[in-house]
Amino acid sequence: MAGPRPVVLSGPSGAGKSTLLKKLLKDYEGVFGFCVSHTTRNPRPGEEDGKDYHFVSRETMQQGINNGEFIENAEFSGNMYGTSKASVEDVQAQNLICILDVDIQGVKNIKKTDLNPIYVSIQPPSIEILEKRLRDRQTETEESLQKRLEAARLDMELSKEPGIFDIVIINDDLEEAYEKLKEVLTEEIKKVQESKKS
Ligand code: ADP
Ligand code: 5GP
Repeated sequence: MAGPRPVVLSGPSGAGKSTLLKKLLKDYEGVFGFCVSHTTRNPRPGEEDGKDYHFVSRETMQQGINNGEFIENAEFSGNMYGTSKASVEDVQAQNLICILDVDIQGVKNIKKTDLNPIYVSIQPPSIEILEKRLRDRQTETEESLQKRLEAARLDMELSKEPGIFDIVIINDDLEEAYEKLKEVLTEEIKKVQESKKS
């Protein structure tokens, strides 16, 4: 596929993926573009339809999947999530580095495609700290929080398996984690910046 390599950010819910990717999008305007996923979960306060997610019903999502509109989709914490071909193409058509935020099932399914991204896992320092961050974020019900912690335990184990991720970044100190993320992406960032000059 032409253009810069996409970036897949994965890791437990609450590990800090959105925080890190929002910093990248802000600091590198015209370099990165966020791949807007579809989800059947409800928007959180401040989330915008079409920007954070395409918020859709199960019926609409299932129809899209049946029509072959998604490169991957998964069930997470009682809701459907998926990456549409159109969302990836929107970003790639602008010659931007496409950032995808997907769970571990998404990582496994993207590996079966020809997307060829850089795989980054963002991990919390510990499950206790993850739980505190999720509680402090005040976005989840107790049930949703418990489901996310359960998924997190599995994700934390799988991220240790060699060969799945190009890099695993422990998000303890935010600035340090951000520096590490930028370092992994230096080559692709340069490519886009150079291509914009010419
Ligand atoms: P994710 O997108 O992976 O679910 P978020 O980016 O929403 O996670 O981060 C979860 C919560 O933790 C947010 O409230 C965020 O402000 C906070 N957070 C993120 N990184 C750090 C960090 N390094 N130290 C402390 N709090 C953090
Ligand atoms: P949240 O509800 O916190 O926004 O996201 C929950 C989980 O779903 C996170 O692990 C996030 O990475 C994942 N996710 C978001 N979009 C997608 C997607 O398009 N596909 C897959 N497989 N997972 C996604």
